[in-house]
Order: sequence, then structure tokens, then C-alpha cells
Amino acid sequence: MQHPENDAKYTGLKVNAGVTSSPSVNPYRKVVRKKRILTPGEYVEGILKGDVSLLGRAVTLIESTADEHQAVAQEVIEKCLPYSGNSRRIGITGVPGAGKSTSIDVFGTHVVKQGHKLAVLAIDPSSERTNGSILGDKTRMEKLSLEKDAFIRPSPSSGSLGGVARKTRETIVLCEAAGYDRIFVETVGVGQSETAVHSMVDFFLLIQLAGTGDELQGIKRGIMEMADGIAINKCDGDNIQRCQIAAQQFRTALMLFPPTPSKWVPEVVTYSGYYEIDIDKVWDMIDRYFDYVTANGYFERKRNEQARYWMTETIEEQLRARFYHTPGIRELLEQKELRVLNNEQSSFIAANDVLDYYFKSIKSL
Ligand code: GDP
Repeated sequence: MQHPENDAKYTGLKVNAGVTSSPSVNPYRKVVRKKRILTPGEYVEGILKGDVSLLGRAVTLIESTADEHQAVAQEVIEKCLPYSGNSRRIGITGVPGAGKSTSIDVFGTHVVKQGHKLAVLAIDPSSERTNGSILGDKTRMEKLSLEKDAFIRPSPSSGSLGGVARKTRETIVLCEAAGYDRIFVETVGVGQSETAVHSMVDFFLLIQLAGTGDELQGIKRGIMEMADGIAINKCDGDNIQRCQIAAQQFRTALMLFPPTPSKWVPEVVTYSGYYEIDIDKVWDMIDRYFDYVTANGYFERKRNEQARYWMTETIEEQLRARFYHTPGIRELLEQKELRVLNNEQSSFIAANDVLDYYFKSIKSL
């Protein structure tokens, strides 16, 4: 079995080119067809019927920063909420190159073949820097994108991590209302986005590779601690033995971690996404987890905790946004910063002055 990565010419990660648009038949004629914003009721009706195009358009409203779009989006979310919740939400993380897209393509096809409807979402706050989302790109999931029961949506392409994560969480609500009973949320396992993903999924899968020593491929201990399951990918060809050794090492490492709140003991499995070997082993592990946490009540408890978490998060995010957008605040902050750095005022007094200014300005509104 010769994998392209073993080829001498292989150069590591590549970014797939996007789909280029075909040349216009008549370049002089500009057709600007702006889609009308529908009423919230129209979106909801379409979503509940499983209309993919309306679902996509509603998600676009969620992602929009325009106030009028947000107003409609929030109403749609509110109306969809009673129909949401009925899914298994699975977070998938791993460093770039671990094989996330290859695996999601295969896992997703596996899930769809079992008769489920699957939505693949992503949280990638770095996408603004890379000029477009690198995650959730349809061209990376070739098999899955052909499945009519799969809805693949790239990460919202701009905003703070908190903002992007909130939008993804709201998108989950709409997808569930549209009948998607399996949700994958993908993220790059190198930063803080894992915490955000962890707070919106039921099961957190960490995709790892065998044997680059102690550093665990840049995966932080905190991310390991969040994982409900570790799947070691690329267990194929002459890599099989190394993967099995790595699996044993991960099992030993996990034993040193404190027990999880669910009492579930995270499992480690090996598989090959590319050659589609032992995919059902990964899936059996995930099924076992869901049986376990449903039986002991943790599933429900975690969902409730997450709902509370998102309420607080949203309040904090809104407060922060309002605060920083208050006219005059930025200038005042700059002045105060200078004074604090010059030892002319203490940090606390400076902070209180700024807050006073903020409270006065909202009172006068
Ligand atoms: P991502 O960055 O985590 O999304 O990783 P990709 O899915 O793009 O995979 C990175 C590279 O690893 C690609 O060249 C894949 O073909 C390769 N790859 C993915 N899964 C496997 C696997 O199971 N076995 C082998 N040998 N290579 C794989």
C-alpha cells in the first residue's frame, strides 16, 4: 500500500484551490439578483420541511453582522428551538494533517449510510487570516458532499472566537430543526476553539497520529483531557505497529488524568481514514459512549450545563461589545492606559473611571 505521503515528492500540507467561477457568457451584462429576506415564519416553515436551500439562507443570516439580518435570524432560532436537541453532536479535532477532512468524509458517509442525516459544521476563527475558511470546505469532503443527506457548512469566516462559536451553536439549532440527527463540529486542535466546541457537543473526538514522541503533536494536555475518545489515524501499511504502540501510550497517559464528570473512561482506538479500515471501531466507541451517558443521566445534565454556559457567554459577549462600542471609550482607554503606564494612576482607579464613564453614557441613552 503506497500512500501519497510516502512519495519522495510529497510536500506536506496543501491547500485545495476553491472552485473557480466559469467565465460569464456575456461579460457586459451584470445581473444582480438580490434575494429578498423572507419573513421568519417563511424560513421556519422551510427549515422544518427540511428545505436545504432555506436552511442555508437562514444560516447566512445568522452569520451576517447586519442588524436587520440578526433580528430575523434570532426570531428564526427562537422558533426552531422547540424542534431542536434531537441529535448526537460530535466534536472532531486534531492538528492540521491529522486527517480530519479525510476522516469526516468517511465517518460522515458511514453515518449517512446508517440512515442518518448529517450536518458538518466548523469552528475556525483563524479563517479571517487565511482569507476564507479552511475547514468544512466541500472540496475536501468529496464523497460526503455528494450525499443528499449531508449538509456541509464552512466555518463563519470572520469574528471573534466567541462570536464564531455562538454562530455555530445557533446553526446547530437550525440543522436539528431541519431533521439533521447527527452533527459534526470540526476544529483545528491547536488553540482555544476546542473549549468552545467542547461546550456545544456531546462527544469530543481527538484524532491523533502515531509516534512523534512526547510532545503529542502539539496537542495540549487540556485538549487531551477534554477528549471522550482518541482515534489514532493512519493505522495502515507499515505504520500499523507504531499506531498500536501509540494507542497503548495514550491509554497509559489517560489513566493519569482525573476521572471525567461523566464517569466514562475515554477510549483509544486505531483506524485508517484513507483506506477506510476500522471505521466501525471508531463508531462503536461513540455509540457505547452515548448508551453510557444516556443511561447515567449525564447526557441530559451536560446539555443543561451547556445551555446555561451559552446564556452567560452571550451576555458577556454582548456586554463587552456594547462597552467597546460606546462612543469615546476607546479614546478614554488610551488616555488611561498611558496614565497607568506612567504610574500616574492605579490600574483599579483607571478601570473604575472608565466604567463610570460607560455607566453614565448608557444612563443618558
Ligand atoms: P486535516 O488537515 O486534519 O484535515 O488532514 P487531511 O484529511 O487533509 O489529511 C492530511 C494528509 O493525510 C492527506 O495527505 C491525507 O491523504 C493523509 N491521510 C489522511 N488519512 C490517512 C490515513 O488514514 N492513512 C494515511 N496513510 N494517510 C492519511
